[in-house]
Amino acid sequence: MKDVRQDFPTLNLKVGDRPLCYLDNAATTLRPLQVIECMDRFYRDCNANIHRGIHHLSVKATKMYDQAHERVARFIRARSWKEIIFTRNTTESVNLVAYAFGDALVKEGDEIVTTVSEHHSNMIPWQRLAARRRAILRYIPVRPDGTLNLDEAAKIITPKTRIVALQHVSNMLGTVHPVYEVSEMARKVGALVVLDAAQSVPHMPFDVNQFGVDFVAFSGHKMLGPTGIGVLWGREELLREGDVFLTGGSMISEVTLEGAKWNTLPWKYEAGTPNICGAIGLSAAMDYLEDVGLDEILAHERSLLEYAEERLSSLDFVKIYGPGIENRVGIISFNVEGVHPHDVAQACDSFGVAVRSGHHCAQPLSLAIGAKHGTARASFYLYNTKDEIDALVDALVMAKKELG
Ligand code: PMP
Repeated sequence: MKDVRQDFPTLNLKVGDRPLCYLDNAATTLRPLQVIECMDRFYRDCNANIHRGIHHLSVKATKMYDQAHERVARFIRARSWKEIIFTRNTTESVNLVAYAFGDALVKEGDEIVTTVSEHHSNMIPWQRLAARRRAILRYIPVRPDGTLNLDEAAKIITPKTRIVALQHVSNMLGTVHPVYEVSEMARKVGALVVLDAAQSVPHMPFDVNQFGVDFVAFSGHKMLGPTGIGVLWGREELLREGDVFLTGGSMISEVTLEGAKWNTLPWKYEAGTPNICGAIGLSAAMDYLEDVGLDEILAHERSLLEYAEERLSSLDFVKIYGPGIENRVGIISFNVEGVHPHDVAQACDSFGVAVRSGHHCAQPLSLAIGAKHGTARASFYLYNTKDEIDALVDALVMAKKELG
């Protein structure tokens, strides 16, 4: 893979007198100059609201925003740009499905299925939907290593199931889940499948058609793009027929005092002034990622994961969670014996190493894998190096010595 580090100004920062080792990419990633400059150019040269002006700048901004939908469609191999809805983030994308589709589909006594491994963003919206509709929420359990128990899934997904919502990759453990197998079970009983791809779209070649799912959600800030922009992909037939979510300007085609007609796709789901610059910044991030190559990025992260696994497992006071690395991508979750994960993260920080600690917004998963205080987590991306993993190991040795 080509050397990308010079494109990321944040990597030049120091923490105290140590170089920053940014290993918190599952939370959010850094931005390359190409994205920063593209957004700067937009605000300098093209700033205008979209879709309602006929002046020069508005036409220019509208074209760029519309093209951003096409850019995203190409990135995830969607059949049409009309299937791309810009939201704020994965969380909003999942909520959109739960409200616009869930409320109409799920009736009293019906079942919704998700998994114990989910990020809270793909769990709470389904808990709320179940409560609104007096439906039952059921969970596919995980084994002690955090992998999904498919035997149980086969029993839990039944003709009563209306929606199955699951993640592709666990943000806590990096586990790659068998999405196709679960989605096949769901399709057999006619349930809709919602995929949280927040941790996969940024890190590997991704095709929305490969799993037979109906909706895919992800966030721009986890893939070198800005915060405040996310994506919901949905099958066009569903989106065309579906109910609306947020209502107001832009999502209508005609309004009377009595009611309104909805706009065409994707605008029907994009109420109000959207994050225009965010969508354009996300396009630049996708250009950047494709230029480096998603296969290359995946291979680079795999080699970092192999190295991290080897180095951390050589420390007898470190416990690593999750399945073997053949079932994981670029994330390593661990605990240092006798040291609280927050103290581990603090010790890492004093070495300039940024890692996250706690439940990683997946508290039920923490409990299921036997990490009741959570874990410390290092998560990698295209700009990380083996030297940074060495710095992490030095920090862990110090944490054990001083605090363990
Ligand atoms: N799902 C997964 C798997 C995640 O990793 C995250 C972010 N940590 C989310 C959902 C939520 O993303 P956002 O905060 O951007 O909505």
